[in-house]
Amino acid sequence: MAGLPSTARVVIIGGGVVGASSLYHLCKAGWTDCVLLEKNELTSGSTWHAAGNVPTFSSSWSLMNMQRYSTEFYRDLAEAVDYPMNYHVTGSLRLAHSKERMQEFQRAKGMGRYQGMDIDVVGLDEIKRRYPFIETHELKGALYDPSDGDIDPAQLTQALAKGARDMGAKIIRFCPVTGVRRENGEWVVATPQGDIRCEIIVNAAGYRAAEVGKMFGREVPMMVMSHQYILFEEIPELAAWTREQGKKLPLLRDVDTSYYLRQEKSGMNLGPYERNCRAHWATHNDPIPEDFSFQLFPDDLDRLEHYLADAVARVPI
Ligand SMILES: Cc1cc2nc3c(=O)[nH]c(=O)nc-3n(C[C@H](O)[C@H](O)[C@H](O)COP(=O)(O)OP(=O)(O)OC[C@H]3O[C@@H](n4cnc5c(N)ncnc54)[C@H](O)[C@@H]3O)c2cc1C
Repeated sequence: MAGLPSTARVVIIGGGVVGASSLYHLCKAGWTDCVLLEKNELTSGSTWHAAGNVPTFSSSWSLMNMQRYSTEFYRDLAEAVDYPMNYHVTGSLRLAHSKERMQEFQRAKGMGRYQGMDIDVVGLDEIKRRYPFIETHELKGALYDPSDGDIDPAQLTQALAKGARDMGAKIIRFCPVTGVRRENGEWVVATPQGDIRCEIIVNAAGYRAAEVGKMFGREVPMMVMSHQYILFEEIPELAAWTREQGKKLPLLRDVDTSYYLRQEKSGMNLGPYERNCRAHWATHNDPIPEDFSFQLFPDDLDRLEHYLADAVARVPI
């Protein structure tokens, strides 16, 4: 393990995908005197359990542009840093249940096209052609995005970390930041391994960003929400189709019912965005635990029933 340096230009707190990506991009911009501090292992936060979907859709111009950048960046990253990773570009179908949703998709199409993406608004026949297992009841059409896909979030983080290290940055694992203070116009970052002085600090502490914000006297306006997904076992029809076609199904997103359904190997991953969602560590008598690395909240499957029933009717296999 690398020892803690006494100074750096930038200290990044948190070794999830956001911290690792910040470090990599700073190095690419020539800021190689940067140190990332991670309290546990890289990817031990939310990144550990992400489904890894890589969408481009947004109703915001700048978010869409950032996501477009990510899809292009991920395509070349494995080769650029010499770290193989699973990145599947499958395309996606974002389903519309109403005329208004179709209008929203027309706007997104215009924005996407202007940003150089080949996204399109398609009708029911084209949905069925691209996704033979779907039932199209209650649908008006869909937004098809050929650049959507999924990536292994742990491999992505490790690839970014390798690229940054190769350019000269340092990553210190098992090194929690316990406090910060200002001294002589610099930040002093305290850890059990000693202090490190720097010009700039990046708070990339993910689900713990509010806790880190407090070290600066800031209230970060965020809340920890639990999010569940269900992995299905192999589906014989899907396995046969994939063998025959040599590709995966596009990802389905039903924004009106509120879930995604993605092929995962020869099964499925169903991820609802639960309307009846649940916040954690939200009150003073339920504080965030000192350590939640690589941990999960207990299953709460009753909350998923509505989404599961809808998805099963949509894709009966
Ligand atoms: C079930 C699930 C599915 C998801 N699916 C998707 C998806 O399909 N697509 C998508 O884009 N996103 C998805 N997400 C969201 C995604 O996981 C997060 O947005 C992303 O991983 C956040 O990365 P991060 O680096 O900000 O935070 P984290 O991964 O939480 O990393 C923060 C890191 O900071 C460290 N840290 C905290 N405090 C300190 C400290 N004081 N000192 C040092 N280190 C500290 C933590 O140990 C942790 O490793 C999903 C999330 C979940 C839970």
